[in-house]
Amino acid sequence: MFESLALLASSRVTTPLVPIKLPEFGVPVWCKLEYLNPSGSTKDRIARYILSKAVRSSVLSAGDPVVEASSGSTSIAFALASAQLGLQFTAIMPEGVSRERVTIIKAYGAKVELTPADDGIQGSINRAKQLAAEKNAFWPSQFTNQDNAKAHQDETAGEVLCQIPTGNVDLFVSGVGTGGTLVGVTKGLLAAGCPVTPVLARPVSDKLISDIECCSFSKRIPGVVDGLSEIFKTAGFTKLQEFEISDDEAIEVTRKLIRAGFPIGPSSGLNYLAAVRAYEDHGQNPVCLTVFPDRMERYFSTELFSRM
Ligand code: PMP
Repeated sequence: MFESLALLASSRVTTPLVPIKLPEFGVPVWCKLEYLNPSGSTKDRIARYILSKAVRSSVLSAGDPVVEASSGSTSIAFALASAQLGLQFTAIMPEGVSRERVTIIKAYGAKVELTPADDGIQGSINRAKQLAAEKNAFWPSQFTNQDNAKAHQDETAGEVLCQIPTGNVDLFVSGVGTGGTLVGVTKGLLAAGCPVTPVLARPVSDKLISDIECCSFSKRIPGVVDGLSEIFKTAGFTKLQEFEISDDEAIEVTRKLIRAGFPIGPSSGLNYLAAVRAYEDHGQNPVCLTVFPDRMERYFSTELFSRM
């Protein structure tokens, strides 16, 4: 199993951090290209962190079952990490997730179980919990597991601090799904002495699906909710800014960024536009950071590519 851990560790990459200034906005935003992680999204970080910790502490060993509920990116990341560690992964996702996501997960030898679309992500979470109990499977539980944020605190924030020439960050902007990214990166930067303000990129969606207690997922900007997650609420931050972005705006900016050479999914456009607004609102040329969570290939069958 330790050979597998070495394989998993060697698949870790440092993702690039680049300043992007689209001509129509004219302000620089530092963007961490998380879509360049091996499985194509930032969720590789939490899958690697959580599973390797479980293997090291002998909670998991080769052949053991793992189940997780997600709308896609997390399942793909856990499928890849499980393949590398020799674990048996089952992804539980709501019906209606893109075809591409199901195909990728199955390609890594994992199983996919779809829960009714009407029950949303909460239906998938309930099923994952049930299956974990029935099969005595390991359930990472990304929506409640603090190691989700810890992965970003230890890895993503650390990378940013090594990469950013100014050595500091004033604003960190991100949409929230589990909240792991917004909480973890903010905590990591604060711990390093950057007085950073976390900024929520909030999708104001005309189509919302599936309540998870406080909030609903945006159907058109997959992976993000229209509010704050439990992980964020329990993080204890004293300041928070928020910028609302419509689905149409987020998708339009995503298309512009793709044309500028960044092969991203819609939540990256949401993050970028909220970062531009946060920069302008600040008024004193802040160092403004955001992430591009995943890749465009996952959305070929969606409206993002309906008029390219
Ligand atoms: N974008 C995409 C595409 C996602 O899948 C997710 C996570 N569901 C996010 C953004 C939000 O990340 P986090 O869960 O760390 O809040």
